[in-house]
Amino acid sequence: MLIWKTITGKLVDLSRKEQEILDIEYENLQYFLHTGHDLGLHPDNKRQALRSYKEIKRREYPILIGKGMLKLEEKPTTICRYRVRIPIGLSKYGLWCTFKSYFTEWSSVELCRSKLYRRDGEYYLYITIRKEVALKKTYSHILPVDLGIRNSAVTVSPSGKPRFYGRRLRRIRGWWFYIHRKLGRKAKKWRNRESRQITDQLHKIARDIVEQAVRYDALIVLGDLRGIRKKKMGTGRRLKRLMSHWPYHRLKSYIVYKANWKGIAVVEIDEGYTSKICSGCGALGRREIQGLFKCPSCGLELNADVNAARNIRARGYMLLAGGDVTRPITLKAVSGVQGTSNRFM
Ligand SMILES: [Zn+2]
Repeated sequence: MLIWKTITGKLVDLSRKEQEILDIEYENLQYFLHTGHDLGLHPDNKRQALRSYKEIKRREYPILIGKGMLKLEEKPTTICRYRVRIPIGLSKYGLWCTFKSYFTEWSSVELCRSKLYRRDGEYYLYITIRKEVALKKTYSHILPVDLGIRNSAVTVSPSGKPRFYGRRLRRIRGWWFYIHRKLGRKAKKWRNRESRQITDQLHKIARDIVEQAVRYDALIVLGDLRGIRKKKMGTGRRLKRLMSHWPYHRLKSYIVYKANWKGIAVVEIDEGYTSKICSGCGALGRREIQGLFKCPSCGLELNADVNAARNIRARGYMLLAGGDVTRPITLKAVSGVQGTSNRFM
């Protein structure tokens, strides 16, 4: 299966001359788009722009670098490991620039189209890469993931140790809720920062979960949370508020995405009973408001999310025993993941 991804990075340590050469290409592109006059753009940059920019509305557009036109090579300096060659109208050899990004698996991927943005005078490169991945068919363990409101995610390790994710995310969301209430419409200008902070946290949670799965050689099993909005989750206003914008689908898609990238499959099971059944004895219990599961039959008292994760794990092992890991969910089943940023992978 082919997986695409966009890597972001920055051109750093540019000399004044290099900066100038990039600025000229960039300005030439804007001039060309707005007036139709080409003052010496690189022919392929021009071709890409003509193909993609039909209606010119914005003031500035990134330079689109066609597949095969960008070169990347390892050349460690004290600042970073890689450099890229940008096609430039002024020089037929292109311009080599030091490129800083968190991504390091360049040797295993194919470079596709890239975009070069200028922001506050600095250059950022977005490189689309792709890789052929074969999902593993056999696993030693199950990593159950219970996605929820109170804890964004709860996992249980093969040895039975629970892990709670999302404390920081909850704090961030609480903080922004406070800001919005305090500043009202004036808070609008911070919206980008808010969504970036939340996205960063979701990526971090997803990355940690996938790292666990890699470490344990585990199939990831997600409890399907689709019913959660309908379920009674207590009456607290705070909880309702958290639920209304909970980025459940994004977290799920980041997990699937990052797992698949590492060759790990993700399956989803119907969450239906996992939160209601006692993970100790299998009796039907009740999910208590305070996040505590109490079993009416054996008396087990346990964090409700951990109880759910344990049930998901049990179901996962049944799938594994039945050899039924042949229908993992992949990106197509989860929307809106392509082009995800991956600074954290
Ligand atoms: Zn029980």
